[in-house]
Amino acid sequence: MSHPWECDYRAHPNSRRISITYKGNKRFVVTYPRRVSRRHAEAFVQSRMEWMETVVNTPEPTVQSLASHLRNHPLVTIMNGQVPVRWTLLYPEIDFDSLSSIDHFPIFDNGERSLVRQLSALASATLPSQVRVLSSLLPIPAVRSVSIRNQRSRWGSCSSSGNVSLNWRLVLMPPHLQNHIILHELAHLVHMNHSPDFWDLLASWDPQSETNQKSLKRLGKDWIRLAQ
Ligand SMILES: [Zn+2]
Repeated sequence: MSHPWECDYRAHPNSRRISITYKGNKRFVVTYPRRVSRRHAEAFVQSRMEWMETVVNTPEPTVQSLASHLRNHPLVTIMNGQVPVRWTLLYPEIDFDSLSSIDHFPIFDNGERSLVRQLSALASATLPSQVRVLSSLLPIPAVRSVSIRNQRSRWGSCSSSGNVSLNWRLVLMPPHLQNHIILHELAHLVHMNHSPDFWDLLASWDPQSETNQKSLKRLGKDWIRLAQ
């Protein structure tokens, strides 16, 4: 039986189970443990045909430009508050020290790259302070550094030595989701894994943890795709 998609089989020494990942463009990659036979992997794929059909037929999300996102949602989060974005003709001279008291965030539309630069600067000026505010309220090891990155597929990460990195796109989220992500990374200072203890700790800091997690799953796809 032939199908209108391509399957790329890869035996992998580190994989523990058979997994099928959709790579877009009607192409799947199937990874399976070395101890599993290719025939077994193929049988597994056969059993997932219905799912694969659905995936292939679901329209791929269109990439949205940051400019059009900001026109539809002209808000950024600065230190726990949502501030309207206002378009200006002149390149904004932003006084980052007074950001928490400004009534709007001026933005200069000179293409995607310029918008990314401005929002990254906003993220660098505000997210580290927000991390420090939240971490000072919690009984956790000290945060050593906070860096702002342009991660393509994650919101943040935390190393065992206390270095937190956050995606600049967090400034586009409402405060409760931004805080949820920061608290998630801070909880990794206590548990460097996603064990039940980790989730319990996070829920004790963020009572809406589960709802926020669901909102992020639903809405996060749109934010992460911006300016990729
Ligand atoms: Zn995590």
